[in-house]
Amino acid sequence: MPIRALCTICSDFFDHSRDVAAIHCGHTFHSHCLIQWFETAPSRTCPQCRIQVGKRTIINKLYFDLAQEEENVLDAEFLKNELDNTRALLSQKEKEKRDSQLIIDSLRDTLDERNATVESLQRALDKAEMLCSALKKQMKYLEQQQDEAKQAREEARRLRSKMKNMERIELLLQSQRPEVEEMIRDMGVGQSAVEQLAVFCVSLKKEYENLKEARKASGELADKLKKDLFSSRSKLQTVCSELDQAKLELRSSQKDLQSADKEIAPSSCGDGGPEASPASLWR
Ligand SMILES: [Zn+2]
Ligand SMILES: [Zn+2]
Repeated sequence: MPIRALCTICSDFFDHSRDVAAIHCGHTFHSHCLIQWFETAPSRTCPQCRIQVGKRTIINKLYFDLAQEEENVLDAEFLKNELDNTRALLSQKEKEKRDSQLIIDSLRDTLDERNATVESLQRALDKAEMLCSALKKQMKYLEQQQDEAKQAREEARRLRSKMKNMERIELLLQSQRPEVEEMIRDMGVGQSAVEQLAVFCVSLKKEYENLKEARKASGELADKLKKDLFSSRSKLQTVCSELDQAKLELRSSQKDLQSADKEIAPSSCGDGGPEASPASLWR
């Protein structure tokens, strides 16, 4: 009679793949299952009848001499166990696969989100870089402007001080003594006042030199003009005397002409109307 026994710990049928152990109360279990049971149970008792179990009262391995049919049955039990185990394993694996798929899907979603974020960040970065370069250009331009403004300010300051000097020098050249004294009083007594006075002295000296040069040139011009005047006068005198001489000669020539007319006139009296005398052409 075939025995289809099972281990009440794991509910699997006995087969030839796992050892079967027995306790002295007569109950049988998988050897492996029984060892686990004793390890986890609070006291060493039979899982089925709760009898106290000593270490030596366990038979660790039972040997079954199986008939041919019985072996086939056992093979069938074994196969059924295997099938159940495999099914359980399969369903567990399928569940794991579903879980994994869910995780993969969520990871893909996350990846897509991250990619979108990266793209948007890249765009923002590009924009920021463009802005940055534009701002750099603007800053460079402004720095240039600032430099130019600084130079212009410097130039204006220089020109103002120069103009002030010029105004003072003009005052020195054109005003009366009290005004000049007041100006020098206003300048104070410091080093800058001394320098200012030195500038004024040099300027006045230069002006004096210029005036001296101008006076010398004027003197030379006057001399030259005097000489010209003198030579012109002497020329005039010469011309006048020549003119007088010429007048005298003219008068004597006229007298000669008149006397010649008189000599010619009696012989040509009867020849008709009076003719213009040659002397009248000279008057
Ligand atoms: Zn078992
Ligand atoms: Zn028992």
